[in-house]
Amino acid sequence: MPTPVQDVRRLHRRLVLRTLRDHGPQPRADLARRLGLSPTTMTKVVAQLLDEGLVSEGATDGPGTRVGRPSTGIRLRAGARQVIGVQVGAGTVRLGLCDLKARARDVRSFGFDLAGEPPEQVVARIADAAAALAGQAGDRLLGIGVAAPGPVDPGQRRNVLSVNLGWRDVAFADPLERALGVPAVVDHNVRAMALAETRYGDTGGADPLLYVYVRTGVGAGVVIGGQPFRSGTHGVTELGHLKVVERGRPCACGSTGCLETVVAEPYLAEQARALLGPLITGGHSGDGADPLARLASAAAEGDGRADAALDEVAGHLATGLASAVNLLNPALILLGGAFRTAPEPIFDRVRQALRARAFPVLRDAVQVRRATLGPDAGVIGSAAVALDRFFYDA
Ligand SMILES: [Zn+2]
Repeated sequence: MPTPVQDVRRLHRRLVLRTLRDHGPQPRADLARRLGLSPTTMTKVVAQLLDEGLVSEGATDGPGTRVGRPSTGIRLRAGARQVIGVQVGAGTVRLGLCDLKARARDVRSFGFDLAGEPPEQVVARIADAAAALAGQAGDRLLGIGVAAPGPVDPGQRRNVLSVNLGWRDVAFADPLERALGVPAVVDHNVRAMALAETRYGDTGGADPLLYVYVRTGVGAGVVIGGQPFRSGTHGVTELGHLKVVERGRPCACGSTGCLETVVAEPYLAEQARALLGPLITGGHSGDGADPLARLASAAAEGDGRADAALDEVAGHLATGLASAVNLLNPALILLGGAFRTAPEPIFDRVRQALRARAFPVLRDAVQVRRATLGPDAGVIGSAAVALDRFFYDA
């Protein structure tokens, strides 16, 4: 058991590390003032962090610098520790090494056969791929985070259900800890991405934040008061399974007319194919295989059916979002996955449809924007979960 003095030291250590992470390099005096710590305490904390190689001291151009007077400041050494982030999707795994600012590098991916490979085998392949990254990180490796495609157990060690992968109760943390010898933590993939946007994204401190991820399904994650929202046993927000169509299509969850049956990528691809024909590879439009971009480009060229299809998709998505807005009053909704790269006019349609559906005062308070963390959002998200153990619990 740590003594109360050790507890206080650890608290100060975490506060200094988080301040440097969030506010950049700064002079000791500014750090002390910001945290309400005495110069003596600050000297002790900084000495320990210098000793551990977690910070460096030197000229800084960060806040606190006066023009013409280079200032000496403390800086977080982001590369001093690393975590491995793993995103498990439907048939694809992406993983990479992330530093203390959750910047990903050496990101790699592999596919797996959803129908033919048991989840245990996929986890074993993740362990092999992660071992190669762990070898690069050496003793800088703090741990590994996994963004799972569904709810996790309260101890954050297992993925209890994934309706789109057909998985039930898959152990991730135990086998990964055995293989790598560092702590592992598992979280719901979209909640992990929401957390990463709050900690490391360009969201301007917007809170509450709702992250909606559209791929094979529609997932959501919420951050409230700077912390990922975990309610109840599994702590998930199943936005994709709100019913938006009466007597609609059957959904993987067993219900019908769920949001994800009329908004997720398989539906979008089907619409684009039905209205615009199969995609000619190396085709004329330059829109690649992205069904939202294909539909938007056809609508812009005056195709009335593509225009109507986009209005319908935006309307369904806005119906789901309006429920979230009315229940949670988010300041910011980020759309990720297929919508992260969607043309801006699609966002205008979603915003307009949301205004028509959400409660007046609440709809004025919410912004809808694209996710900010790029194509590695899942890797960064899982890394953010592992990094939170370091910045908040260590
Ligand atoms: Zn459903």
